[in-house]
Amino acid sequence: MPGFDAIIDQERPIRILTSLLTTRSIPHGILFTGIEGVGKRTAATAFAMACNCTGSSDGEPGATCGNCTACRKIATDRHPDVLRVSPSGLQIKIEQVRSLCQVLAMKPYEARFRVAIIADAHRMNPAAGNALLKMLEEPPDRTVLILTAPQTADLLPTIVSRCQHIRFKPIARHHLAAMLATAYGFSPADAQLTAALANGSVTRALAMQRSGWIQRRNWILSQLAERDRLSVTSLLALAEKTSQVKEDIPEMLDLMATWVRDVAVARYCPDRIIHQDLKRSILAASQSIEPGFLDNAGRAIAAARRRIRANANPRMTMEALWLSMAAARQTGAGV
Ligand SMILES: [Zn+2]
Repeated sequence: MPGFDAIIDQERPIRILTSLLTTRSIPHGILFTGIEGVGKRTAATAFAMACNCTGSSDGEPGATCGNCTACRKIATDRHPDVLRVSPSGLQIKIEQVRSLCQVLAMKPYEARFRVAIIADAHRMNPAAGNALLKMLEEPPDRTVLILTAPQTADLLPTIVSRCQHIRFKPIARHHLAAMLATAYGFSPADAQLTAALANGSVTRALAMQRSGWIQRRNWILSQLAERDRLSVTSLLALAEKTSQVKEDIPEMLDLMATWVRDVAVARYCPDRIIHQDLKRSILAASQSIEPGFLDNAGRAIAAARRRIRANANPRMTMEALWLSMAAARQTGAGV
């Protein structure tokens, strides 16, 4: 799907971009902000296509045919006048910005409008940032620089002030679920669940699927449902297993928090349960918990989050957490 049609739930950014094209008032610098995986790079590519498409049937500015030479070259990243810079390793280095400047100092090869896309611009080191700033101060001919970053605060204020800022919001849950089902073949249940937990990011949803996240979720939530029937030995084994990959722990804690939240809303608003496919077990848990459990469990998860952020020992942190989750059930005051 070429052009802006490929981007979901970003009406406002697309309206602004289309109006820049329609009024032929393309600025020298545009800054897209928003979390990873909401369509910033796709929008930058679509904008480059819209600037250069020669095949759009109605000749409308902003339209893309997806079939002309320019569209096809841009979509497959083979167009000499659509340039892309992204971090090499952790940073965008000065050499990368310098070589971009050298190319932009020359005339465009074949484009009506040249587009340079600097993805993750917040990863420019200071030297690279200053080199880019110079380019924005003396903009090259028929060229737009499109920067992407999570938020304006991550960039030099002097760069931000020279760009038109367009904010991309997280994708609404139902739009994301529909996209995962239609474009990526998720089952309806998996699409709903992944969308509920991906915080509005397509990238995050796909990463969750790749990592076998749903299977892991099933296992962790079944352990949570069983927690007060597990022996201390089993709880410690569980802590060991769940602390093995430190990078996975924050996501696991988020998951445990959604389960606690589901148990909390189950009795009053069962429609708002995130893990809809486990509704029966969540309703059962909500009927058997003791007063104080939810608060204590929430506090135990928050404490574990703080400890992991502060670089505490993962295994000890998870041991304390699993023991608290079980004790919270038994005593109503386990933290
Ligand atoms: Zn075209």
